Amino acid sequence: MLRLRSNRSRAEGLGGNTQASRGWKGAIDENVYIFVCARFAPARLRAIFFSLVPAFPFFEMKLHDTFGRQITDLRISVTDRCNFRCVYCRSADSENYRPSDELLTWTELERLARIFLTLGIRKMRVTGGEPLVRAGVEDYIARLHAMGVEDLSMTTNGYLLAERCERLVDAGLKRVNISLDSLDPAKFERITRTKSYAAVMRGIDATQNSRLAPAKINAVLVRGINDDEVEDFAGFARERGLIMRFIEFMPLDADKHWTREAVVPATEVHSRIHVRWPLEQMANEASETARKYRFADGTPGEIGLIAPVTQPFCGHCSRIRLTADGKVRTCLFSKDDHDLRPLLRGGATDEDLRHAIVAIVLEKEEGHRINTPDFLAPARTMVYIGG
Ligand code: SAM
Ligand code: SF4
Repeated sequence: MLRLRSNRSRAEGLGGNTQASRGWKGAIDENVYIFVCARFAPARLRAIFFSLVPAFPFFEMKLHDTFGRQITDLRISVTDRCNFRCVYCRSADSENYRPSDELLTWTELERLARIFLTLGIRKMRVTGGEPLVRAGVEDYIARLHAMGVEDLSMTTNGYLLAERCERLVDAGLKRVNISLDSLDPAKFERITRTKSYAAVMRGIDATQNSRLAPAKINAVLVRGINDDEVEDFAGFARERGLIMRFIEFMPLDADKHWTREAVVPATEVHSRIHVRWPLEQMANEASETARKYRFADGTPGEIGLIAPVTQPFCGHCSRIRLTADGKVRTCLFSKDDHDLRPLLRGGATDEDLRHAIVAIVLEKEEGHRINTPDFLAPARTMVYIGG
């Protein structure tokens, strides 16, 4: 119980977000107390507890961690391949992709999605690597839609989006996030190490002309590379009526170039935009990663600030990730991941998998440790995790 209290006060202190604290209370249900107690139980007792759970029909099996957070949001990486080499993510050197037989098949990914759905996952985001480079992703989206995923979205670099947008909409995709790190074509191509600006812009146009509008555009700001474009990006949001989200650079790049000085704090982004076009904060769900702002003059468009480094939102985290090779990651910065592939391929029943996932979520970390002196970046970089 102490954990619950300390988590809550920390999150409020950091964000000063009253909306968030209301959401936090709402996120607690009666099962939470049992799961928090499970944290302190010896492993053997825990195992007995979870083997008994199905015997109690009143106990709905959901995903809770031992810090009182309910997990409702799953990021599914469908590939570790990517057609870009963004400087803050991949290396210019060739990296080893995993052999195809180590990646989960579509059937395995579908089975896991069904199981996660029964465990209270409501939001699923399909990501990668670059999800659109894996053939069959539209069919997978259609299956997720048919099984009743409430909130179904995708993160993409946009390169293949213009030609695929219509099929994705027909498949049931509800929202799309597109990465765009510069409005200067030459700089964009230096960042992504590809000749791709025009194609990504066509992808954004196609999205804006579809039921997926307004697109969410993600820019990772890196000091000295694209931090001079904050106001241009905000102007782009106003011109195009889209949602421009600024993400702080995290230590998840393959080249290990991340430094604290390279991070552009969300507070700086806010004040620079606010001076030019006053912003008004909008309400947001406690577990949402972005603080959202509208333009006070009523111009369409929106700004989102995502500050995992300078204002961590771990106290409200509702996310876990499934990697393309079948590992569950309970935090972007987890030291260990939890392998479901041997279970999937070794004859485990759905019930076995459900129990395994519930137990994995109990291992979810209290928070990332980027701001502690002993922080060590995880071995897996962003392209192999899925954002
Ligand atoms: N390839 C797709 C894309 O770029 O949108 C999806 C996968 S990518 C790993 C998901 C998100 O992670 C993108 O918005 C990307 O900008 C972000 N990202 C990658 N490396 C990052 C880093 N070191 N710090 C912060 N965000 C990062
Ligand atoms: Fe590929 Fe996305 Fe990483 Fe860029 S950020 S290298 S597009 S996975």
